Amino acid sequence: MTGFVHAALGAAIGRAVKNPALAFVLGFGSHIVGDVVPHLDMDIGETPLVFGTLAQIYRVHGWKSGQFWGALGAVCPDFEHIPAELRRDPTRFEPMPSKKVPTHNGQLPHGRWPFEDKWGVMLNFTLFIVGLYLAGTLDRTREEVVAAIE
Ligand SMILES: [Zn+2]
Repeated sequence: MTGFVHAALGAAIGRAVKNPALAFVLGFGSHIVGDVVPHLDMDIGETPLVFGTLAQIYRVHGWKSGQFWGALGAVCPDFEHIPAELRRDPTRFEPMPSKKVPTHNGQLPHGRWPFEDKWGVMLNFTLFIVGLYLAGTLDRTREEVVAAIE
């Protein structure tokens, strides 16, 4: 999956399990599953959306919520891409043995999107909305949002 989809699905898992530590672990695991299934990875340009999604999940549910820790667990495996991105390593889109996550170092296959890119983009945004809906991130009132961060 691409980062903002990982975040939304992790938040949905976090809502289901509630416990922050378990949400983090299952969110992390969901990243690996999400990487294996066929998907379209969107490039580094999605970074603001990833952090914006995390910020919104934090704002709506608070930092003690399952949603926040599930989303963080689901996103953080991709932090190991940052050094290679920063040095613009030409091999950074291939499995790199120096990485720890099995879908990033080739121990597990990383799914590739077999259809036109536009369908992959649409699937990403569909999963994003469904994930946030299941996480309850879209159905809080303004008062509940304010209460969550107080
Ligand atoms: Zn990944």
